Amino acid sequence: MADRYGSDRLSIFLIILSIILNFIGNLLKTPVFGLIGYIPLAISIYRMLSKNITRRRMENYKFVMFTDSFTAWFKKAVDNITIRIRDAKTHRYFSCPDCRAKLRVPKGKGTIIITCPKCKTEFKKKT
Ligand SMILES: [Zn+2]
Repeated sequence: MADRYGSDRLSIFLIILSIILNFIGNLLKTPVFGLIGYIPLAISIYRMLSKNITRRRMENYKFVMFTDSFTAWFKKAVDNITIRIRDAKTHRYFSCPDCRAKLRVPKGKGTIIITCPKCKTEFKKKT
C-alpha cells in the first residue's frame, strides 16, 4: 500500500453511500438497487488502490470544496430560520419589490413606509 493513494473524505463518502443504497435495496426488496449500491463501493476501492495520487487528491479537493460550500449554505439557511422563529413575535419580514432584499421591520407599528437600505425603494406595508 506504500505507493497507493489510500482513503480520503470522498472514498469514505462513497462507502457510506454504498451502504445506504444497499440498505434501501434490502428494504424495497429490489436487487437492482443493491447492485447500483456496489458502484460507489467499486469506485472507492479503485480510488484507494490507485497510484495516480495527484489525480485522486484533485478529485478529493473538488469534493471537499463542494461539500464545504453546501454545508456553509445549509448552516446559513438554518440560522436564518432560527432567527425568524426567534423574532416572530417582535418583527415582520418583507421582500423589497425592486431588488428582493429581505427586510426586517418591527411589528405593531401600523402601516409604515419602508425604505430598502440596498436600492432605496420605498413601499408601504402594514406591520
Ligand atoms: Zn431593494
